[in-house]
Amino acid sequence: MVKLAQIIVAGGKGLRAGGDTPKQYSHIGNKPLIYRTLEALSKVESIQDFHPDSLEVSLIIVHDPAHTDMLQSAVKGYRVSKVHGGETRTESVRAGIESLKDNPPDYVLIHDAARPFVSVDCLADLLNKMQTHQAAVPVLPIADAVKSFVGNEIQDDVERGNLRRVQTPQIFHFKDIEAAYQDLPAGLSLPDDIAVARRAGLSIATVLGDEHNFKVTYPSDFEKAETLLKMKSMSDQKTYYTATGSGYDVHRYTDGDGIWLCGIKIPAPYTLLGHSDADVGLHALTDAIFGAIADGDIGDHFPPSDPKWKGARSDQFLDYAVKRLKERGGKLQHVDVTLICEKPKVKPHREAMRTRLSEIIGLPISRISVKATTTEKLGFTGREEGMAASAIATVSLPE
Ligand code: MG
Repeated sequence: MVKLAQIIVAGGKGLRAGGDTPKQYSHIGNKPLIYRTLEALSKVESIQDFHPDSLEVSLIIVHDPAHTDMLQSAVKGYRVSKVHGGETRTESVRAGIESLKDNPPDYVLIHDAARPFVSVDCLADLLNKMQTHQAAVPVLPIADAVKSFVGNEIQDDVERGNLRRVQTPQIFHFKDIEAAYQDLPAGLSLPDDIAVARRAGLSIATVLGDEHNFKVTYPSDFEKAETLLKMKSMSDQKTYYTATGSGYDVHRYTDGDGIWLCGIKIPAPYTLLGHSDADVGLHALTDAIFGAIADGDIGDHFPPSDPKWKGARSDQFLDYAVKRLKERGGKLQHVDVTLICEKPKVKPHREAMRTRLSEIIGLPISRISVKATTTEKLGFTGREEGMAASAIATVSLPE
């Protein structure tokens, strides 16, 4: 059982959005904004396979004590713990974290009450990163030109290539962010929780943010939110079908200093011969995904005749196949790779392979299988002339 606490920060006055009602209690589609946010966050329960164990989720709302009555009626139907916020966002989150101390969760996710459109995919991506990092955050590039100002006067152009917009939810190993907040001097106010994590030197992963996950701030944002809500309820009615694809690949052994297998390098007194890095596992899996979307094979997309792919790392082939799948509105559900060889021993490397595959294809490790078998000394694999891999990819695609 993995325990996940979700802290919703709703302590602000929220009056920039206009009107007398704080924005987090104003309505979108006949429900208060904060209710919509709860709705979105509670979908985390549908990520059944994030971990072999199930997920136990709790919700904490940090709020202004003056809003207690509004909050009470806004969150009807949800089981939430209510915690009084502080003067600043930092103090509010600190109060939320303190409230969890006696029954600490494994992970804590901290989210702005005013972002009602966080997607299940984003939640899954963030949770997935908890297996390799202490913190994770959704980020987005900037398309507009950016300039610095003094008052109303343009001061300078700002190079936007290195800039990213940072969203919530932000997720952390609870004990790490708790310690980071403990080390934070009282009264110090930081813009978000990743800033607190950075200050404490935690390892931080990024995932791709979502334009729909915007922060409702100004009056016009409510119109935008209404439109998006209608669009979402329409797309919820979209139906999907399940497709599977299979892939198979072989490479010959030759003298060398190790082989690439399922995205990791295994030291050995031999290597695999190929135009690219000859990662037989990644090639089989790449072809399985192309197969599931009936999109030709790896040779069509990356011709061995093209010198561009000489010595290429195969993770880019796999990454491209996943991109083609996403362009069709599809989603990877599960992969199963079987390595067929007498050498090397796969088992000691299996978890590293699953972790690397998870990073490349963005699936939780629990949906990634890596198996190995020999052929009882029979055939070319038995004679140790080469190794083979087969893979199956299961995807869902819109009808
Ligand atoms: Mg190959």
